[in-house]
Amino acid sequence: MTPLDQPISRRRISLLIVALVLPILFIGCGGETRVSPPLIDETLFVPNYVLDLNSKLYHWDHLPVRIAFDLPTNWYELFPEDPTLHVRAANEWNQPGKQALTVVVPITSQHDVRVEFVSENGLEDGRQGLTEYTHDTTGRMLSATIKVALYTAQGRKLSAQDLQATIAHEIGHGIGIGGHSPYAEDLMYPTLFMGNPQFATQRDLNTAMTAYPSYFTTRAIVPESRAPIGPVGVERDIIY
Ligand SMILES: [Zn+2]
Repeated sequence: MTPLDQPISRRRISLLIVALVLPILFIGCGGETRVSPPLIDETLFVPNYVLDLNSKLYHWDHLPVRIAFDLPTNWYELFPEDPTLHVRAANEWNQPGKQALTVVVPITSQHDVRVEFVSENGLEDGRQGLTEYTHDTTGRMLSATIKVALYTAQGRKLSAQDLQATIAHEIGHGIGIGGHSPYAEDLMYPTLFMGNPQFATQRDLNTAMTAYPSYFTTRAIVPESRAPIGPVGVERDIIY
């Protein structure tokens, strides 16, 4: 069975994240400066898949994370029936009555996560979404750029629903989830089932909230150190 013969609900698209780790250079004589990463407590919001991330749960030093979309000029022609799908994708990470994790800001204003769209058929290795981000050794996010392909490797335009799921998944990486969920129903599962609606589950949201505990719980949290950041090198690591 060739990929094109497969029923649409079983066809999967792959997503990729690339983490660029910028280690901190500690300069000083005498005393050793050590920056402690914030305590990650996987018991705060359950269920979650924090432990499955193998410590790749990062955080920005503020909320909400500012998401800016660099929409293609023909966006409204591409998705005339649903031109705000990208805003809904960002808002999937927000829960009523709780601190927002994301906010959509104009591309011209200061932002944390930039979302770009490419008109090619898939990205490298036929992937649909890619997030490149940098963080320091305390796990603090410094930058994030998301690329989303508007067409599949087979040249088919993504449906509004599949595109929304792809954007929302990549934004999950952009706000700090540096790995994937092992549960197929979660948005942060590494592949998306095309044609099936897929949204952030409570498990996705709990995992994200764990990266920002002070915003979501009154339980005592060890404060994060505020040492200066001095990136000195780049390391590339790829997770599927
Ligand atoms: Zn992913």
